[in-house]
Order: sequence, then C-alpha cells, then structure tokens
Amino acid sequence: MKVLVCNVGSTSLKFKLFDMPGDKVLADGKVERVGRTDAIFHYGNRETGYTIQLENQSILSYAEGIRRYLNCLTDPEHGVIPQVSEIERVGFKTVLAKGFYGIHELTAEVLQAMEDYLIVAPAHNGPYLEAIRQIQQVLPGVKLVGVFETAFHTTIPQARRIYGIPYEWYEEYGIQRMGYHGASHGYIADVLTEQSGGTGNAISCHLGGSGSLCAIQNGVSVDNSFGFSLQTGLIHANRIGDTDAYIIPYLLAQGKSVEEITKGMDKQGGLLGISGVSNDLRDIQIAAEGGNERAQLAIDAYCAGIIHYVGAYYAELGGLDHLVFTGGIGENSSLVREKVCGAVTHFGIVLDAQKNAQRSAQARIISAEASKVKVWVIPANEELGIARRTYEYR
Ligand code: ADP
Repeated sequence: MKVLVCNVGSTSLKFKLFDMPGDKVLADGKVERVGRTDAIFHYGNRETGYTIQLENQSILSYAEGIRRYLNCLTDPEHGVIPQVSEIERVGFKTVLAKGFYGIHELTAEVLQAMEDYLIVAPAHNGPYLEAIRQIQQVLPGVKLVGVFETAFHTTIPQARRIYGIPYEWYEEYGIQRMGYHGASHGYIADVLTEQSGGTGNAISCHLGGSGSLCAIQNGVSVDNSFGFSLQTGLIHANRIGDTDAYIIPYLLAQGKSVEEITKGMDKQGGLLGISGVSNDLRDIQIAAEGGNERAQLAIDAYCAGIIHYVGAYYAELGGLDHLVFTGGIGENSSLVREKVCGAVTHFGIVLDAQKNAQRSAQARIISAEASKVKVWVIPANEELGIARRTYEYR
C-alpha cells in the first residue's frame, strides 16, 4: 500500500511517500514559504537518487504545494508511481482534537473537534485544518488519517491525567494532561523494541524546537511532560514550559492584555526569553562560551528541567533500563547530554565521553559498558511512525 505522510507547518509542507509494509521511502518532498511567490520546492526520488530544488516559486496555497508534489510523483521520467490513484492513504501528524485523542479518520466531525481546540494549539491546528481541507479536494476519495500527537499517550494512567481542578472543567472542557510528541516517542519505543527486544523502563527525551520527556513502560507511555497544551513541561525554544497558572491573573491585573500575555508565553519565552540571545541552542552555546551570563542561565535552566523530569520518571517507573535522546538538540548537543547524564550518575548512568562526542546518523549507545542504564541517541523519524500507524489503522 502506498501511504503518503504529510507534515504541515505554518508555512511549510513536508511529504514522504512510503511503500507499506516494509517501511520503504519512495520519494520525499518539501515546500517552504507556502503562500508566497518566493517559495522553495524540493523533490527527491529515493529510488534513483534524483533530486530537484526550485527557488522563487509561486506556491500560494497548500493545495498548490501538494499538486506540485503529486506531479513529480507521477512524472514519467523522475516519478515513482504511474498515477495518483496508487496513493491509498494520507497520514497526518495532527496534534489535538477535543474528544479524539487516538488515531482517527479525518471526518468532518474530527475536523470540527480540531476546530474546538484551535485556541489550545493555534500554531498547529490552524495550519493542519487548512491543509487537510485543501488536500481533501486534491485527493478526493483517499482515506485521510490523523495520527494525533496525543495518541501514544492515551495509556497514561488517569491519576496522572487528571489535574486538581473543579471536576466539571475536566468533564465539560476536557482539560487534562494530554501528552504530545506521540509520533516521536512511539517511534523510540519501536526502535528499542526492535534493537533490545523491548523497552523495559525507558525515558525518551525529545529535545527540539519544542521538547518533552516520556516515561515508557513495556512499550506504552505512562507519563509525558506536556500537559493540556504544548506550552507546558520543559523550556522550549520560544514557549515557556512549566510555570505557575497564577502569573496570568496577576499580569492581567497589572494591565497586560490577553494578547500580550499569550505572545509572551508562546513567542517571547523559553530559551529566547531567558537568554535574550536566540531561540536556537547553537547560538546560545556560543554566547555562553563568550561569557554571556543569561545565555549560560538558559542552558542551565533547560538542562535542570530535563534532570527534574528524569528524576520524576525514574521514581514513577521504579527504575530505568534505557535513557534516550532524540530531536535536533537531543541528537546534536553532546553538551546537553553530558550535563543531564552527569547529574544522574546515582541512577547507574555512566556516559562514555568519547561515544558522546561522536556523530552518527544511526541509532547508537553512548553509555559506558559499566553503565546499568543504557543511554542512546536515536535519530527522530516521526514520519515512519506516522506511516506505520496510518497503514495499520482499521
Ligand atoms: P523542530 O522541533 O522544530 O522540528 P528540531 O528537532 O530539528 O526542530 O530541533 C531544532 C533545534 O535543534 C535547533 O533550534 C537547535 O537549537 C538544535 N540543534 C541543532 N543542531 C544542534 C547542535 N549541533 N548543537 C546544539 N543544538 C543543535
């Protein structure tokens, strides 16, 4: 079965066409700056190695972006399928829909439920709703499947899902700990199972533009550092992470508007807010090396948050077999891995400094032989996770 995986950003579209089962990628594609006349279009045929990148393209809508990609897929010379009707399913890394937390066909009812939570996940639900509606028109009759980022976390026990809020807020509005980054953490569970025969007790640290830790027990999620929204948990690139809900009424009373507060929380906070330098850890590391104290504080606070959740999940899991780093920061920042692992040596975690410093695109173990806990770096592959779940969906 040909499964197209579509990753939607606020101004970008990324595609991968899979042949399932077998996890084979046939072709990938990317459109950057959707909605502009200087869009960048990329297509790659994974079979032949042919790639093309076109700049200054007029791609004014998601529909136009996907049409371009479909034309490449069916191109007689560089395509990989004879006709578009070969595509049986499209899988989306959708984020949140009220009352639909697993893997669902994207019916009108599910799209309405995404709309209902637009205010909780505006940066994600808005672009996805627009792209899905346009793709429905470009690919009529094809089954569209939403592998919600909450799906892997539906196994979190109720005692960790519930907040200490008036119970009717939970019943009426669905306010609870959701957990996100499900495609990434679910893929990590798959890799540990394939390579170690099971996950046992594992902590998966997805550290990218946004970050979360997931406690995994025997293959299923039992906790995640995200809460009801994606604003919570770790400090993110621009988003605040865990804070005290009472700063909001306090700031309102000081005369700040709701718009100013939400902008502060999702655009001006996180690593950028603390460092005042950048939302990119690479820039912050350089500034800290140059003696910038706020940059150093941002790195320290970021790592302290990760260490906090590692400790919490160690206690919840009752021990630890695997600690995994993934995502742009998790895969590339040996400094963050060193600081985190160095703080929890009493859990039986011993890093091999040389292995930690090495780079590789493969999943690898970076702990010392003597380490009781295996420490891994596993490159994120959320698209494969989505392709598998979309293919399996019944
Ligand atoms: P997203 O969450 O947006 O998909 P990624 O998972 O690709 O992003 O992570 C992006 C982040 O990874 C960048 O903002 C940067 O902070 C970090 N990063 C990438 N390479 C390095 C590196 N060599 N050292 C430190 N941080 C890095």
